[in-house]
Amino acid sequence: MGETVFLDGKFVPYNQAVIHVEDRGNVFADGVYEVIRYYGGRPFEMGEHLNRLERSTSAIRLPIPYEREQIVAWADELVARNSLEDAVIYLQLTRGHAPRFHPFPPEPTPTLFMTARPAVRQPAESYEKGVGCVTVEDKRWKMCNVKAIGLLPNVLARQTAREAGALEALFVRDGIVTEGSSSNFFVVVNNKLRTHPEGPYILSGISRHVVLELAERLRIEVEEVPFTLTELRQADEAFLTSTTLEVMPVVTVDGRTIGAGVPGPITSDIAEAFTARVQRK
Ligand code: PMP
Repeated sequence: MGETVFLDGKFVPYNQAVIHVEDRGNVFADGVYEVIRYYGGRPFEMGEHLNRLERSTSAIRLPIPYEREQIVAWADELVARNSLEDAVIYLQLTRGHAPRFHPFPPEPTPTLFMTARPAVRQPAESYEKGVGCVTVEDKRWKMCNVKAIGLLPNVLARQTAREAGALEALFVRDGIVTEGSSSNFFVVVNNKLRTHPEGPYILSGISRHVVLELAERLRIEVEEVPFTLTELRQADEAFLTSTTLEVMPVVTVDGRTIGAGVPGPITSDIAEAFTARVQRK
């Protein structure tokens, strides 16, 4: 059996899942998305993902046409139908198709689709030795808290990283390090964890939130304050968080070594606690 996709209430074969050419997601990037991790066939932090989806949809004034329970049931079924255990669900909701005209259609028919793919982890060596990042100017808009499907700046940033042999690109806005192209970013300075505060300049990552909770439990002090690229260069440790990366140590930025050039003790404690949390759930 080939890959199955969910589209507007139906489970359809991958090659038959078709969206209208004038879908507003296609012509205006008028939509939002979520990426949800399944471990052992069960979703991780599904409630938080749905809360964020609701925040994103209300920010773009797009009512979700389905109940939360219904979306969860469909996502669970999609993972099962694709015979997956460790999976990543991509969920996208757009304002549907209508003749191309900027204002909202009078009666929108939103398009919801989901794909389920096997979760692909970075090589173990990356977690053991840490990875490199590059910095790029943050040219994005001031609604980065909305998980909008318009990701061209993120795509360009990530390609820059790839061409530099780095795993991730870090956005820098007016000298302040905001987040990665698809991850949040933390530094450790004098045994304190520091990350950019929530607001219009970052996506409020679910993994970021989990890490903040774990830090509290581990009695690691946390400061949600902006920090500069210069401060990052002087940090003792650094790491990325995301649904797909979990907690990934960063040991170089723009080719310069961060801290001791190996994953630091606080990063390792957080990563270990993250894994334990996943296993507990
Ligand atoms: N920031 C951006 C810009 C992202 O795209 C992502 C991943 N979706 C994150 C942060 C991390 O969010 P999460 O932990 O919910 O995956």
